[in-house]
Amino acid sequence: MKKLHQKFLNEEKGLKICYTLFTTLKPFFVVSPTVTKRETCLCRIHDNFDLMATRLKYLGFTWEKVNDKVEVDVGAIEKMKENTFWWNWRICSKTFEKNGLAKTSKAFQKVRVTGTIHELIESFVELSVIYYQHVYRKRVQERAYIDCKQMVLKSDYDGLLICDFSQNYGCKLANEIQGYHFGSARQQVSLHTSVLYTGILKEPLSFCTVAECLDHDPSAIWAHLSPVLDHIRKICPSMVTLHFFSDGPSTQYKQKKNFYLYTNNLNTYGFFGSSWTYFEAGHGKGAADGIGGAVKRKADNMVAHSRDIPTAREFFKALNEGESSTLFFFIEKEMFEEFNKSLPEKLVAVKGTQSIHQLVPKSDTEVYHRKLACFCSKNKWVKREFCDCFPMVSTTLLKKNASEEILVNKLPACSTPKAAPCKKKSTSEVILVNKLPSCATSQASRKQPLKKGTYILVGLGKFTYAAVTQEDVEGDVEVLVTFFKKCIKSKYFCYDESDTKFIKCSEILKVIPVPSLVAKGNRVYYNFGDLKVLEK
Ligand SMILES: [Zn+2]
Ligand SMILES: [Zn+2]
Repeated sequence: MKKLHQKFLNEEKGLKICYTLFTTLKPFFVVSPTVTKRETCLCRIHDNFDLMATRLKYLGFTWEKVNDKVEVDVGAIEKMKENTFWWNWRICSKTFEKNGLAKTSKAFQKVRVTGTIHELIESFVELSVIYYQHVYRKRVQERAYIDCKQMVLKSDYDGLLICDFSQNYGCKLANEIQGYHFGSARQQVSLHTSVLYTGILKEPLSFCTVAECLDHDPSAIWAHLSPVLDHIRKICPSMVTLHFFSDGPSTQYKQKKNFYLYTNNLNTYGFFGSSWTYFEAGHGKGAADGIGGAVKRKADNMVAHSRDIPTAREFFKALNEGESSTLFFFIEKEMFEEFNKSLPEKLVAVKGTQSIHQLVPKSDTEVYHRKLACFCSKNKWVKREFCDCFPMVSTTLLKKNASEEILVNKLPACSTPKAAPCKKKSTSEVILVNKLPSCATSQASRKQPLKKGTYILVGLGKFTYAAVTQEDVEGDVEVLVTFFKKCIKSKYFCYDESDTKFIKCSEILKVIPVPSLVAKGNRVYYNFGDLKVLEK
């Protein structure tokens, strides 16, 4: 406040106002920062990027941040060799002793990194690549959520359920003796919250399931979801399709056990179409978290008004009695065991689980999945027919040998072949589709706007690359594209989804013909004919 007062006096030269009056005239919305209101759910990639960018700015490197796009002016070469430092969130291992044994644990730490300015810029550029992809995925997933929500709110047959585990609630008594307050007698309550959106109901419906068992693993997820799905079935008898949304921690929602329980149990609740969409890592906070916070505040408020909440069951009772639009269910321990028992011992890990962002049940033991989610109107969820905005593959969860990926529509962007029957030839090569229908037909002239899914030749310096546009280009300066990589010792190209970035429109050299698809073993290659590229 003193600093603000000084600043005010410096800026408003003619005004003389004493400190006491200044504090009384302070508008109500100017508040002192508190430890509870600080940011605690920042995304690591975003924060690391911000930390480095702030440091670069401090060091005099001008940069501009416009809609998550950053441009760094890499001038002042003589400055590059100077030493500096910057902050970075990193996973560090710590060693500690427990019962005489040395143990290590891994935890995030904010580390002070030292190096030259040149090294800082190099790390920044390196991170930028990851950052761009991260921002792209974040946007696509958020778009998918918005699209899905709009779709279900207009429909009498579809629903959207967004769910999340809340941080455990520590039980409290209205008055506590010192031994209880500081001791380890305090019980914890596990809370799983979800919000249902559907056109069948006028308002979104929120659920909070309460359990004594503190597990957050896949069997716990289904123990918590089970009464919620039963209830939805009861109040929305017309609902055929239910889309799930959650964040994607590898110990909870995004792992083979949850995939299995999901594909296995969904039909028993009478949902024939479904999908499970994961938000981009670090950006999974949604409506369900709000419910958790509100429920805990309510419980605290009851304790403040002399109600004892010593156990999970009491917590459930207290909140269930109170007036609330949220529906509460108590989950018995047996439920956890029941789902745990239903898990087969040998489940196959799905390749690249961490990069999956949308999952659809295929059968009891098979799933379809893709790296980015889409809810465009081409998806027929009940029929299990999907758009080809992003490639969809299928994987068997239960298998003797190894997990097997079968191509469903592994094509970038707009191409639209319906899995043409691949006739086996004597060689191991199978031509899937001779010629893909193109969205880019008759776009010979570059002056015309380019559609999403146009195959292009990109010139970066003296090198050239094949790529496909991921968005419509119409008077934009930049366009998001995914690059193809030429395979070694082969005339074919691979689609490299991880190599998705913005390029300047001026870097597009020409529109190239739509490639044909070639399957070899489990992989799919793109044949651009006699296209010449000069890759770095
Ligand atoms: Zn982020
Ligand atoms: Zn789509």
